[in-house]
Amino acid sequence: MAPSATTTATTATQNGTTTLKAEKDPLMEFKYGGYKQVGPNSKDIYQIRIPEFRSLEDERAFRKLHQAAALRWLGAQGYNNEGAGGHVTVRDPILTDHFWINPHGKSFSHMRPEDLVLVSKDGEVKEGGNMHSINPAGFVIHSAVHEARPDVVAAVHCHSVASKAFSSLGCELEMINQDACRFYQDHGVYAGFGGIAWDPDEGEHIAAALGDTKGVILQNHGHLTVAKTVDGAAFLFGAMDRCIQAQLLADAAAAGRKTSTIKIGHEEALFSRNLYNDEMVYIMFQSAFEDVVRASNGELPMYVQGEIRRV
Ligand SMILES: [Zn+2]
Repeated sequence: MAPSATTTATTATQNGTTTLKAEKDPLMEFKYGGYKQVGPNSKDIYQIRIPEFRSLEDERAFRKLHQAAALRWLGAQGYNNEGAGGHVTVRDPILTDHFWINPHGKSFSHMRPEDLVLVSKDGEVKEGGNMHSINPAGFVIHSAVHEARPDVVAAVHCHSVASKAFSSLGCELEMINQDACRFYQDHGVYAGFGGIAWDPDEGEHIAAALGDTKGVILQNHGHLTVAKTVDGAAFLFGAMDRCIQAQLLADAAAAGRKTSTIKIGHEEALFSRNLYNDEMVYIMFQSAFEDVVRASNGELPMYVQGEIRRV
């Protein structure tokens, strides 16, 4: 009797798994944040890592370059469509209670490092950056996040259409695909929308809902992500948005079929999440960074002076 389609598929999968295990290169191992071949020539292999810097001034230049690039990427992805809404902030490496923010009303898509505004924790625009107004709600939200999370460098928040729809449901992301696992037990929901965030209390409530996680879904508002690099925060922002889109689609399809989505188990979700450490989320953004730099026609460089590649 010919095997059923299901049996064939199962057998093929089993055979495929066996073959893959047998052919796995024993010299490949997972390194912190990337794959690296180990062996006699390992030092010759370049892998993307978060760089080091000769000075804090060089690190500041790096953070501003990557912040401008992250904003351009957000613009290219259509996140610039709420006018002055949406903000990216990066902690200053020298004045660590100050952060850099995009100027109020300027297009994300043309951002340069010299356009960024330096603001103190009290909301004062400081010399050394672009002397330009900033979005008051952006300051309220991001200053509270930077204050509450000294371990993170950057925060990204915009209003996507999918996020505006999903956040009205007041629920977390479900583990319905591999990519959602990046946020497994590692994001919050802020259920107490208190109006446009002009009141410092609103920022503090958002920071409290974020807790020590990667991101927070802001009910009736949108979402916000944080990381130790602006690259990582931008990657996680887009990643969370795509997970939101996938969950909306899957839930709608499941409702139409009068069924429910299949969830990934705890162990698998936890294992997958733990691969997305600080270095990994930085790495995940570097293809987008390259796209932005190449599209800038020389306005943005790939590297800053004093940037030291790590191997
Ligand atoms: Zn907002």
